[in-house]
Amino acid sequence: MTDHTDSGLHEDVLAWFDAEARDLPWRRDTSPWSVMVSEFMLQQTPVSRVLPVFEVWMRRWSTPAALAADAPGDAVRAWGRLGYPRRALRLHAAATAIVERHGGEVPSERDALLDLPGIGDYTASAVASFAFGDRHPVLDTNVRRVFARVVQGVAFPAPSVTADERALAESLMPEHDAHRWAAATMELGALVCSARAPRCGDCPVAKQCRWRAGGYPVHDGPPRRGQAWAGTDRQVRGRLMAVLREADGPVTRDALDAAWDDPEQRDRCLHTLVVDGLVEPVADGMFALPA
Ligand code: SF4
Repeated sequence: MTDHTDSGLHEDVLAWFDAEARDLPWRRDTSPWSVMVSEFMLQQTPVSRVLPVFEVWMRRWSTPAALAADAPGDAVRAWGRLGYPRRALRLHAAATAIVERHGGEVPSERDALLDLPGIGDYTASAVASFAFGDRHPVLDTNVRRVFARVVQGVAFPAPSVTADERALAESLMPEHDAHRWAAATMELGALVCSARAPRCGDCPVAKQCRWRAGGYPVHDGPPRRGQAWAGTDRQVRGRLMAVLREADGPVTRDALDAAWDDPEQRDRCLHTLVVDGLVEPVADGMFALPA
């Protein structure tokens, strides 16, 4: 295998990043809270959809203490249509823990970040890297795809992060500027080496890319998860949440029933929203966002 750390990979990717990186609010304001909010929102939602919600959110809740002082339901409402709204509840819980345990300041150590609600391995590394300039591999889907193609010569990585991938990411991490390397490889995957239509003609590492050199062998790993949406419980949950978000207060069961025709699926989804803490049954058979 080519020794990619000696093949100009870092220089090429970082120079490309300097020239092409998007001007994003969480790159302008790299305060730990700004980075943390952006990472929660970006976990499963594309940048274009996150941007407007992020900007309103940060104007309203510019510190963890400001968010923690409001009700979890306010966070769920402000989450809008970003999807997977449990992230809003977790972010609220993390803000509360930051106030209680860390005097309102996002902690800088990766282990302390990992102890916060809703923060897993990836988010802890991302916040420690992007907000505090620490040196950690940051393996999001974009970075993993770039490494799979450039170094391993395959179209896609395994469904979840493997020990080999972690070791590879460690070995590729430069001694200095590791946080910029993380951001740059992430951006390369997002803007150039996309899942379905990589733009190899515009790629700064095309000459080093093993997948390209091998003639783009087809993916022969496990089938990749689809993005089915129509008719799924996720869609129904989204419809029910929209009814609650758009109301000023508690809503009737009839209002929720009007959101989806199939009563069995609707009841199942409402039940899971209550179990997840995103919806609360209140007096008179009504339902509300969490107080
Ligand atoms: S050459 Fe193509 S496949 Fe390889 S990293 Fe660049 S964009 Fe991706």
